[in-house]
Amino acid sequence: MSRLLDKNLSRRRFLGLSSCALATVAVGSQVKVLKALAMTGKVSEPTAMTSKDVFTSCEMCVNKCGVIARVKNGVIHKLDPNPDYIKSRNMLCARGNAGTQAVYDPDRLKYPLIRVGERGEGKWRRASWDEALDLVMKNMNEIAEKYTRAGMMFASTEGFQEHFFLMLAEAYGSPNTVRHATLCLSSNIQGFGATYGTNPNPDVLNSDYIIMSGANRSEAFITPDTIDFLKGDGGQRKVVYLDPRFTKTAAKADEWYPIKPGGDMAFILAMINVIVSEGLFNQAYLDEHTVGFDKLVPHIEPYTPEWAEGECEIAAADIRRIAKEFAAAAPKAVYYQGRRSSFFSNDTQMRRAMAILNAIIGNWDVPGGMIPSGKIKLAEHVYVAPWYDDVPDRLDKDCVTYLSEKDGSWKHFRDRVIAGEPYPVKGMMVYKQNPVASIPNRAKTLEMMKQMDFICSIDITMSDTAWLSDVVLPEATYLERMDPVESIPGLLPLLSLRHQVIEPLFEAKPCLWIMQQLAKRMGDEAAEMYDYTIEEFVEHQLSLLPGAREMLDSKGIYYENATPVYGSSFGKPLKTKSGKIEIYSEKYAENGHDPLPVFTAQTTVPQGKYRLLVGRHAYFTHGTTANNPYLHDLMPENTLWLNAGEAKRMGLKHGQRVRVKSPVGEEVLALEATEKIRPDSVYMCHGFGVLSKEQTKIYGKGGCDAALLEDEVCPISGNVAMHHTFVEIFPA
Ligand code: SF4
Repeated sequence: MSRLLDKNLSRRRFLGLSSCALATVAVGSQVKVLKALAMTGKVSEPTAMTSKDVFTSCEMCVNKCGVIARVKNGVIHKLDPNPDYIKSRNMLCARGNAGTQAVYDPDRLKYPLIRVGERGEGKWRRASWDEALDLVMKNMNEIAEKYTRAGMMFASTEGFQEHFFLMLAEAYGSPNTVRHATLCLSSNIQGFGATYGTNPNPDVLNSDYIIMSGANRSEAFITPDTIDFLKGDGGQRKVVYLDPRFTKTAAKADEWYPIKPGGDMAFILAMINVIVSEGLFNQAYLDEHTVGFDKLVPHIEPYTPEWAEGECEIAAADIRRIAKEFAAAAPKAVYYQGRRSSFFSNDTQMRRAMAILNAIIGNWDVPGGMIPSGKIKLAEHVYVAPWYDDVPDRLDKDCVTYLSEKDGSWKHFRDRVIAGEPYPVKGMMVYKQNPVASIPNRAKTLEMMKQMDFICSIDITMSDTAWLSDVVLPEATYLERMDPVESIPGLLPLLSLRHQVIEPLFEAKPCLWIMQQLAKRMGDEAAEMYDYTIEEFVEHQLSLLPGAREMLDSKGIYYENATPVYGSSFGKPLKTKSGKIEIYSEKYAENGHDPLPVFTAQTTVPQGKYRLLVGRHAYFTHGTTANNPYLHDLMPENTLWLNAGEAKRMGLKHGQRVRVKSPVGEEVLALEATEKIRPDSVYMCHGFGVLSKEQTKIYGKGGCDAALLEDEVCPISGNVAMHHTFVEIFPA
């Protein structure tokens, strides 16, 4: 059997490597002090002052910015940015600063809990870890016996310890893992992947011309793009921003266009039309690096700016001018693809159009253009999982053309659980994910959960999904655990190591520990998969990189290049069928999809209704941080944006409560009458309207977008489409 490590490796060596503190002064055990703080808000007076600074990595969102935790007397007093951490450019956002409250929030999960009332009634009893884990294992065994091992599903989202959780699905023998990608960026990955063989990074810092559509980078943070975008460049760079709302990104752009929702692809195709028809491309470049340009020329002919004006409501003259400016700035110009896509069910083709526009100006792998993602290689974790006969394929197999085996497609998966087809799934293990609040059409998610024989959630707070579970297991927060090394891809590839800052409060445990305990209950083979400490795991990961651990300990980061490397892909085949940039996709043609993007108009907003737009706010990460005490102070609830003229026409007043009704749900929110949105659309921020009464600060406040959104989906990638839904508004 393959093993992670040579067990002869001296444990003394691990201890020698583990002194991660920047400057450690007489640190003793402060667990009692911490517990006192968390429970009473008061800190016991220590007999001697102790302090330390620890390098760690933020987990308040997906960006993993570099952090220095300042600890005094065992209490985390402050989180500061790590100035050496090139990805986050010496910055922590509001959420990053509020990370201490993930630890000290009185609402955090403290002990294993077993449900005693009805599901969702909120009645729990505290259990020991052994009792809770025995109960989880008993239910998992019963499900395996009754429905096969595929009868358990494992839902999770990205995180440094997610690997350990996903391994549990293998140890148990279920193919049914469902991750968040199809609620996020899978159409983006698919559209750019079909063109370039990868999802490249826009070189925002060095670009002279950036067009952003729908990627609200000043509020939906992605580091380093947000910082590079906001940094400015002395007026040389031009930013054109398309969004139905006047966001903070619009305020920072040179030009803002309140584009008609669903019109993005028309705008892009018209830009391609101008560049092609006016010969603003580099033929020699296209001949050498791309395939299919000859097919693009006749395809793009009907998509003139004059045609696009009717579809996107941006003047033809502006489209023409922007296309010429964009081509003139080439190759230091990018059509920025954003991250979360999934606006409409044609989203993958819209991303294809973006990729093709970038390709024809020749911005691939050059300064200021689209750069392939680099990644620092870690030693692979090799393990052998037990083998079980007679386990069927994953439940959502074949539901879309390009389904990720690891991610699945949440919408399709849920539909098949509800239908019980092609086989029953009756058990749910959830780690760090909150499907109740994040998958469009919450009523269906609740129906899916009702059909489960057993649900277990592992989390740091009582999310809506945890609230509806049978067993809830408290995970240690990111400041209370050491995590595996993460190789973070991007323009500046780096390694990040989350050092443990303090001991876990209460009875919270790291995911690895929880998985080890469950694996032991599964048997020797499963236990063998987890037979190492976190220190041993990290040492193995870094075994190919001499000096990496020392740098991670002394600087909180490991990297090989502090500035982007350009041209690394030149002379090598891309990961596409042809090995070149595929303007025309043979692969799509073979699978029955348009090989070149074809515009499909979205349904016009019906009389008396509004298109519901959803999005992010800089204070919140999905549904995970709205209940954070510091962030809650900044924004206690979400509102419904409605154009001020429309509000006046309907006799609605700013601040009054309104009932928002969609075909699948109803929510009540305060009205925000504003000029910052098109008259045909309304907008609400994600993350409120919770069901869990243990999110005490936000329970009863605001509305839940997932309760209103219908569950349209992209047939190529399986990504949900977030902007299809129309709503009506009434005074509440
Ligand atoms: S962007 Fe903010 S929340 Fe996200 S990792 Fe960075 S500091 Fe943390």
